Amino acid sequence: MTDCVFCRIASGEIPAKKAYEDEEFLAFHDINPQAPVHLLVIPRRHFNDVVQAVKEQPELVARLFAVVSKVAAAQGLLPEGFRTVCNTGPNGGQTVGHLHVHVLGGRFMGWPPG
Ligand code: 5GP
Ligand code: ZN
Repeated sequence: MTDCVFCRIASGEIPAKKAYEDEEFLAFHDINPQAPVHLLVIPRRHFNDVVQAVKEQPELVARLFAVVSKVAAAQGLLPEGFRTVCNTGPNGGQTVGHLHVHVLGGRFMGWPPG
């Protein structure tokens, strides 16, 4: 998946400001932050979206959210809290076709989304 921007970030081909990494996952700062803290947590393995990941490797999704929790705590987002977003497909507003969870915090997050 050399045409996938997040695969290229995972391989180190494209630089990113990393906040966390292990052999399976990576968290890095969004290039266009929407909150004081705005991270993206991704699996290194390419999945188009969460639907594909749940079909093919459901236990990975649980580990992905364990990393989300760990990263949020490390960024000082607890106990105030944070927003997780996992956009899926065109109506979900997904613009990068590699599974990622947004972690947004450091301010109050309004609801509902626009
Ligand atoms: P989506 O719209 O697919 O839910 O989220 C994609 C996110 O990836 C956007 O918030 C966008 O700012 C971020 N993004 C896109 N390209 C890059 C990049 O090359 N580096 C980083 N750090 N973030 C990116
Ligand atoms: Zn990818």
